[in-house]
Amino acid sequence: MKDTTRVNHPPVVELAADNRSVVPPIYQSVKFEFDSLDETERFFRGERPGFFYTRASNPTTRQLELLLAQLQGREDCLVCASGVGAISQTLLALTKQGDHIVCFIETYNPTRYLIRRLLARFGVTHTMLSIEDTAAVEKALAAQKTRLVMFESPTNPVTKIADIAALTRMAKSAGALTVMDNTFAGFHQHGEFEVDLYLHSLTKYASGAGDVMGGAVIGRTELIRGMRTDWGTLGGTLDPHAAYLILRGLKTYFVRYQAQCASSQRLAELLAAHPAVARVHYPGLPTHPQHELAKSQMKQFGTIVSFDLKGGAEAGARFAGALKLFALTASLGSTESLVVAPSMMGGRDLTQEQLRTSAVTEGTVRLSIGLEDIDDLMEDVNQALAASTPTP
Ligand SMILES: *Cc1c(COP(=O)(O)O)cnc(C)c1O
Repeated sequence: MKDTTRVNHPPVVELAADNRSVVPPIYQSVKFEFDSLDETERFFRGERPGFFYTRASNPTTRQLELLLAQLQGREDCLVCASGVGAISQTLLALTKQGDHIVCFIETYNPTRYLIRRLLARFGVTHTMLSIEDTAAVEKALAAQKTRLVMFESPTNPVTKIADIAALTRMAKSAGALTVMDNTFAGFHQHGEFEVDLYLHSLTKYASGAGDVMGGAVIGRTELIRGMRTDWGTLGGTLDPHAAYLILRGLKTYFVRYQAQCASSQRLAELLAAHPAVARVHYPGLPTHPQHELAKSQMKQFGTIVSFDLKGGAEAGARFAGALKLFALTASLGSTESLVVAPSMMGGRDLTQEQLRTSAVTEGTVRLSIGLEDIDDLMEDVNQALAASTPTP
């Protein structure tokens, strides 16, 4: 064998069946082969398990899918290259021309775009309501045959809480699927409800490090199987190396989530007691209008703390600019703390009335709480609050 050939067929290092690596290897390979054409054909006929092409499946991404399904308490999962990819591929796989979607004003901006603009081009219609108005949901479901109800809880950025039991009950009796973006609550929450499909951005809490993107849909076998071919063909494949980084991040998911929630509660209490703050949005505060509902649905209240400054947009800008430990950027759920200033909030696609319903004001600031020492975070927030009010 010449060396030009050898570099393309390097020596194979096989492990004995009784000798394993403790951390599973990354299957950084696009292609897989069987020993014979007969076995390859049996695989194509579905007569044997295996892997063939990474866009369809890969052992490393499959390991991530099986773990996420177990964490969310469902049978199966598909992952892809981003959270938005998971939302778009799920909505495309579930809908056809003429279908109707019930969705909400209090929804991640790209999800609103997908439903209101992109799916509308393919003849999918929608009714957009407030997540707090369950009576309107009942009415919409009665008025029109509906394919699915798409919602989140807690919502972005002001942490409104969806009444999941009510939504799933109404959707089920109307013959509609429920699709829940569960990114804010995490993989360990809301699994006991009769939600048909859970969506997650793996970019957030899964890796925690903020260095990799991914998305997932989780649900029962029949629904996931029905979407598998569409997902493979839409082609937003998660790279095996990214899947490995997410699997690695998940090892510390529970301790991170718990510690970040504890800090979030402390900071929410600090903000609620401060004279510059008009209102704090954190489901863990007894003053949150849906605190009882949140308590009945959630074990932990998440790491997003939003609040309205009395001084409006200018105070928000001064506050965000004065913070030293919070990066001024999008995303959430990472180990470093982040801040979104009022002028960075989306919602330009909403009418004035919808904006009022959203409860996002021109002084609304969103914090994502990381793993820094809580005393350092409190000191930083305190000095930024002081800087947000101009000295008379
Ligand atoms: C970030 C986020 C997404 C999108 O995830 P990406 O991985 O950034 O594409 C979807 N839904 C919610 C609630 C999010 O916070």
